[in-house]
Amino acid sequence: MSRSASARANRRGDPPPAPEALPAPALDSHTHLDIVLGERPAGDEHGEWSADDDVDAEIAAAAAVNVTRLVQVGVDVPSSRWSAQLAARHGSVLAAVALHPNEAGAGKATDDALAEIDRLAALPRVRAVGETGLDRYRTGPEGWEAQEASFRAHIRIAKQHGVALVIHDRDAHDEILAVLDDEGAPEHTVFHCFSGDAAFAKACVERGFVLSFAGTLTFGNAGYLREAAAMTPVDQLLVETDAPFLTPMPHRGRPNASRLVPLTVRALSEVTGVELEELCVGLTATAERVFGKWEAES
Ligand SMILES: [Zn+2]
Repeated sequence: MSRSASARANRRGDPPPAPEALPAPALDSHTHLDIVLGERPAGDEHGEWSADDDVDAEIAAAAAVNVTRLVQVGVDVPSSRWSAQLAARHGSVLAAVALHPNEAGAGKATDDALAEIDRLAALPRVRAVGETGLDRYRTGPEGWEAQEASFRAHIRIAKQHGVALVIHDRDAHDEILAVLDDEGAPEHTVFHCFSGDAAFAKACVERGFVLSFAGTLTFGNAGYLREAAAMTPVDQLLVETDAPFLTPMPHRGRPNASRLVPLTVRALSEVTGVELEELCVGLTATAERVFGKWEAES
């Protein structure tokens, strides 16, 4: 067992077995493979890309159930560099780069850090700036000003490079819309792990935003999310894991992985009434409009 695989097994146990394959290729629009594999670089060290066997195994396990494209998301400078390096080496992976809102709230969105995100956002395989946004749950009021300043800086970086914006919204629906309306949202703006109700979904859909649903859609107490998904047009709909977090039912509480996307896609098909294969095709089309074309893992 490699170092990272043993770290993973020690910390959380292995992800559950893969469900039945999807009938057509779909994707995971938001994953943290570095965290899944326990490869997240410590502190401010550079995350040199490593553990290729483990990464390959994760990508192959997802492709085996027709989850053939991934977006790997950074949350700080080291993981953003790692994400960009991974995407440069894997045709089926694109990268998103950013300083997470809770990092920003802790004062880590320095000029130097933002300059590095700006540099990474220019790379050809980096197709989004995110996850950025506002988190009013984990960051207390003392960090809100820094968090909003960082969010505004990330919006500008995304627009300057003509890439998508991937938003983290925790207990901050109205505040995020206000900032987006004020700055002017990028052409492609994605609400990662959409967490609002139907009314908020409507406000986002009307603005042309894309709503990405995670395993939370399958939770028993998430009727409001299913209502939100039901009123979202397929061309504004994405699916994701946010792995290793937010594992869909019936595996809630265990580590998540891209291979579990079919559980959430099936739930989306039920909720939206869009036939499963047609939905897979639609999700892929939405992803390629938002992030640009990229290779499917075969
Ligand atoms: Zn995330």
